[in-house]
Amino acid sequence: MSSADLFLGGDTGESAYRAAMGRATDAVLSSFADDEDPYSGFSPEELADQFAEPVLPETGTGLAAAIDEVEDRVLSHSVGTSNPQCVAHLQCPPLIPGLAAEMMVAATNQSLDSFDQAPAATVIEERVVAALCSLFDLPAVADGVFTSGGTQSNVQALLLARDRFCGTQFGRDVQQQGLPPEADDLRILCSAEAHFTGKQAAHHLGLGEDAVVTVPTDERHRMDVDALDDTLTDLEGTPFALVATAGTTDFGSIDPLAAVADRAREHDLWFHVDAAYGGALAVTDRAPLLDGIERADSVAVDFHKLFYQPISCGALLVRDAASFEWMARNAAYLNPEAHDDAGVPNLVAKSMQTTRRFDALKPYLTFRALGRDGLAALIEGTLELAEDAAELVAAAEDFELLGEPTLNAVVFRYRPEQGLAEETVDRLNAATREALLSDGRAIVARTTVDGVTSLKFTLLNPTTTLDDVAAMLDIIRECAAAVSGQEVPR
Ligand SMILES: *Cc1c(COP(=O)(O)O)cnc(C)c1O
Repeated sequence: MSSADLFLGGDTGESAYRAAMGRATDAVLSSFADDEDPYSGFSPEELADQFAEPVLPETGTGLAAAIDEVEDRVLSHSVGTSNPQCVAHLQCPPLIPGLAAEMMVAATNQSLDSFDQAPAATVIEERVVAALCSLFDLPAVADGVFTSGGTQSNVQALLLARDRFCGTQFGRDVQQQGLPPEADDLRILCSAEAHFTGKQAAHHLGLGEDAVVTVPTDERHRMDVDALDDTLTDLEGTPFALVATAGTTDFGSIDPLAAVADRAREHDLWFHVDAAYGGALAVTDRAPLLDGIERADSVAVDFHKLFYQPISCGALLVRDAASFEWMARNAAYLNPEAHDDAGVPNLVAKSMQTTRRFDALKPYLTFRALGRDGLAALIEGTLELAEDAAELVAAAEDFELLGEPTLNAVVFRYRPEQGLAEETVDRLNAATREALLSDGRAIVARTTVDGVTSLKFTLLNPTTTLDDVAAMLDIIRECAAAVSGQEVPR
């Protein structure tokens, strides 16, 4: 291969690109065609054994052979995220418009850290951010930035909250001077079922996980507002942020955002809404479930979940663009003066990343192509399926439904007989989950509810049907019977 075959630009590059993309597309499609089941069932050892040859050989195999090898050994043993019976995590089947955008993002390789590296991309990211701010009814001065996902959005939101608080309360410039002596007392409040990245963020921000105070949840797994009031009254330490979750990972539950917003205002706390999962409701008829989100100081929303975009794709929105001042830095080589002078956008100042992908193109292309109603129909279909699936589980004598779904997550246990000890149910469900993974016909999640291992369907995929759900319940019965040494009930 000459360099003309290896880079875009020029006729040779163009035909090499077409050939490579065509071959890669064929590899993807044929791996899908070969695999009826969402997973091959290969163990970690079996996977590793396939890759005995050197990763970096002295002489390469050429692209076609390398792609074929990837098809055989990687694509065939990837979890089938587009398979209707792959329903474990908040891992979505990627939408075809998102995949088309991803290909354009890669080929153009724009980097959002400076305008001269991404002119149109910079403007599109700003347009998408503005559209999101208005989708969540944030005020006109709101702003935002694309992130790698909820983890980064949450840590950045809490960083802005921390630094604003330390600046206004203690006159401390954390960016320059580090944490103030009072930092030991700083507290972040969230529900007991909030995502673990809240605690992780507290660690990364130098506050430690003990700075996170969790508020008990009600029977529907939402933050209990009375308990929040008690927590605020009894709290030792200095709270600066109150985090509500719109879509918890296990139950999809949504904290009472308006009531939590009231408490945040009363106690002068930064109100962050982690809507990584549930933010997508804003385009649907169920948008009222998010009432109160418009009062947030910051919102985390993920596109690589219920918006069906390829990983990674998320955004952090802030109520007031001026909040970004707390983290702005000016690298001379990125020409901040020129930006200020000419009114040229300077997105690097808003991000924790420097070189940054043009992920905003994925929701942009999808929104333009499908429109709000197209997207809403996809999402609403999955919410209805989750309700029907929950009914099916509840009606089955050998299954136990653990709560009504709010979004797409249906949590349950296999309980073949009444009166089984919780310990037995725990072991049976844990062993069944193991068996499911090596079986490969259904990818189901495990979680723990009240200390007992449980199973979970996260029904994000709009192509999954109630028949698929029924088939997966049968597969669970079979796997459970196999691990408990019983006959398969037919
Ligand atoms: C997925 C999720 C996160 C983490 O986001 P990533 O995109 O995985 O970084 C945080 N909070 C909630 C509620 C989530 O669902």
